[in-house]
Amino acid sequence: SLSAGIVGLPNVGKSTIFNAISSGKAEAANYPFCTIDPNTGIVAVPDPRLTEIADLVAPQKVIPAYLELVDIAGLVKGASRGEGLGNQFLGHIKSVDAIVHVVRCFDTTDITHVDGSIDPQRDVEIIDMELVLKDMETVEKALPRVEKRVKSGDKLAKQQTETLRAALRHLEEGTPLRRAALEDRGDVLQELHLISAKQVLYVANVDEETLLEDNAHVQKLREIAHADEALCLTLCGKIEEELAELEQEEQEEFLQSLGISEPGLHRLAREIYALLGLHTYFTAGEKEVRAWTIPAKALAPEAAGVIHTDFQKGFIKARVYTLEDLRQYKTEAALKEAGKIRQEGKEYTVQDGDIMEFLFNV
Ligand code: GDP
Repeated sequence: SLSAGIVGLPNVGKSTIFNAISSGKAEAANYPFCTIDPNTGIVAVPDPRLTEIADLVAPQKVIPAYLELVDIAGLVKGASRGEGLGNQFLGHIKSVDAIVHVVRCFDTTDITHVDGSIDPQRDVEIIDMELVLKDMETVEKALPRVEKRVKSGDKLAKQQTETLRAALRHLEEGTPLRRAALEDRGDVLQELHLISAKQVLYVANVDEETLLEDNAHVQKLREIAHADEALCLTLCGKIEEELAELEQEEQEEFLQSLGISEPGLHRLAREIYALLGLHTYFTAGEKEVRAWTIPAKALAPEAAGVIHTDFQKGFIKARVYTLEDLRQYKTEAALKEAGKIRQEGKEYTVQDGDIMEFLFNV
């Protein structure tokens, strides 16, 4: 399933944020997959459309889309050279779909920063450098193997060699590959799971006072994010930790007293989802109303495959309607009578927000 890795220097608030994620009890209880290791937490992706469909259909169960967040602690300066447990942790980043980079923007003096002062630019550069160095190592290791195949006349290997050499030039200049606009000829970059190529979302971890108004550190981080064509989101780890302990009603009161409309973690989940260019379709029955995650532009059989591989293999057709029509007609029976349920085949590109049912051969 979908995952993002949380990185950042020591003492920036990663564990605090991660604790908030993993103590969101209601979410863990609903999570359909049970084997989750201790450094993985689950967040639901809040979606008002799901709530609206559930209100109309009144099912026994409502299941949102979920995102896995992986705590990638231990990334320090020198990690790529094996300092701390760095190298091992850098390896974990390979398997995530996106990176959440937590940057310390709170000034509290009684909590020391590893490098002595609060400086978002320096922090971002340190982490980026570790990602770049790790990728250099990976590319340098792969290159001789691929070059060898060129000698035996392998055309694909020739393309791959050129791609890898171009990547190496960027890395040697200190440019993360996500900013390099490289064409992945021979699909070799993808194959190597290069970590500086992954999309990044910056999180400015601030204190309570800064939540509603950016301090100078946050402003700086926003500039950095802007130059990186990335998003920057402000949250307060401590508040998130407190929010996660509360029942819904108390949570709403607390949010109101803070002057914010939703927990920062909800925004985070939504933004990661958007960052990865994902779409959602819904299934809506009496038993269960559920959100399903698919890549943008997925065709109907692929979307069916997210529920079960058998749905994809035996795909016959899909019955599809929209939320706007459900809003107007209220029930599936009324939609059917009004001719608002479409039949779509194998070539149908699923639209974000479609409500679907699949017919398939077993
Ligand atoms: P990590 O090393 O990045 O995992 O950092 P921790 O989560 O352990 O946080 C380091 C210290 O900063 C702890 O003492 C936290 O209580 C404190 N801290 C974390 N988030 C915040 C925050 O949002 N505001 C303030 N004031 N302190 C925080």
